[in-house]
Amino acid sequence: MMHVKLMKTKRGTCSVEARRIWLNLELVKKPIYCLEYIIVHELVHLLELLHTDRFTALMDQPMWWQYREELNRAPLAQGGWEY
Ligand SMILES: [Zn+2]
Repeated sequence: MMHVKLMKTKRGTCSVEARRIWLNLELVKKPIYCLEYIIVHELVHLLELLHTDRFTALMDQPMWWQYREELNRAPLAQGGWEY
């Protein structure tokens, strides 16, 4: 289940118990591949709750690192993103 809402400090969150992903509405202002990155990131959280080595390994694809860099270069409304 995927939901969208306006969030102040997060790009997206994932509730594993509820199998629910929230995406920040601000992301619609981003290129589609950025949205894709966040969705994949949150989906990986369904497999691995925390940012463990296993999580990193699951996300360890060159294209994702590129997207991540781009997102970090251009933060949304506020800096200090956490997701
Ligand atoms: Zn995360």
